[in-house]
Amino acid sequence: MRVDRLSLRNYRNYKTLDVNFTNNINIFVGENAQGKTNILEAVYLGAVGRSHRTAEDDDLVKWDQDSASVDLFFTRHNVENKLGFRLIKGRNKEILFNDFIIKPREVIGSLNVVLFSPEDLWLIKGAPSLRRRFLDIEISQASPLYYRNLLQYNRAVTQRNHLLKKVLNRNKLPELLPSWDEQLAKLAAFIVDKRLEAVKKLGMLANLMHRRLTGSRESLSFVYQMAGGEDDIPGDLYQWYRDKLAEQREVDIARGSTSVGPHRDDIILRVNARELRSFGSQGQQRTGILALKLAELEFLKSETGEYPVLLLDDVMSELDSLRREQLLSFIRDRVQTFITATDATLFPAMRAGRYFRVQDGKITE
Ligand code: ATP
Ligand code: MG
Repeated sequence: MRVDRLSLRNYRNYKTLDVNFTNNINIFVGENAQGKTNILEAVYLGAVGRSHRTAEDDDLVKWDQDSASVDLFFTRHNVENKLGFRLIKGRNKEILFNDFIIKPREVIGSLNVVLFSPEDLWLIKGAPSLRRRFLDIEISQASPLYYRNLLQYNRAVTQRNHLLKKVLNRNKLPELLPSWDEQLAKLAAFIVDKRLEAVKKLGMLANLMHRRLTGSRESLSFVYQMAGGEDDIPGDLYQWYRDKLAEQREVDIARGSTSVGPHRDDIILRVNARELRSFGSQGQQRTGILALKLAELEFLKSETGEYPVLLLDDVMSELDSLRREQLLSFIRDRVQTFITATDATLFPAMRAGRYFRVQDGKITE
């Protein structure tokens, strides 16, 4: 997988930009607030269909303009593809895949990326929703079916919650719930089954990477935690969800929300059997995240047959020189990478790299 070319019009602080990339390491160097992250964001947009920094597409349009466009030319399994985004303030964006209009939810799974930014520490420290989102994006990039079922599940939860409130207000009969629950249980079982599989694979890969990064001194593990579940994962997930939803029905009606299901689950990261969130030092947490990111690369490679594109935003300066070297030696000649940095000296004698200087919305090589 590689991005060959990026073309921007009135995107963020870029008036016009047309730039070709190397399939090895692309390094964007510049002072703060010049437009380095904006480039990575545009590539991420092509992968996920939305920015990693804002949910508002209007934010992406240059302030003094009404519309913007992003065009990405990328190669996937040796086939050239084109993704185009047309953004008009106050309207829904239009997305074109090889010149055909597609829906936002159809974007994910074509151009695959792994993004690593300083905010990723929140994967350890932050709310469960961030970890779920991380896992969902990861699996969705490899499986469009997963993504479709996930969207359907989320809609079903919203509708069930709506119904719960109506039952509470006596506008609807509780007899309507069981058929909903059956539908929900089916989708929940599918999603959790896929997540368990991914957590197992990712956990194994991350542990391998982690041992490499720490000289085999520490081991990293992931545990999937089902809301309302015990330590042991039930054998029949569908049956388990049916029972749980029935069991929780009264509570759910009183609360007006659904208390079990993949929308409530979490993933626990541990180092040497201790929870990384509570007991890990800053350095251990960073190393844990780095191992996780490298595992993501391998996971997507094994699922899709190709390495995704790696986006490293500002992370080099946060890693010590040993970890930096480990990371570079892993990706060099293997993974197309986009790195941003304020200081070019972090990359001593980088072979196979192409340098871009970013200054005030302009790029020079
Ligand atoms: P840092 O090193 O601090 O991370 P950066 O080079 O990554 O900086 P970017 O995040 O890419 O910087 O942002 C570059 C500039 O783009 C910022 O000054 C920001 O104010 C500006 N900017 C953001 N959105 C828009 C927009 N819609 N229109 C015009 N400029 C924008
Ligand atoms: Mg930045």
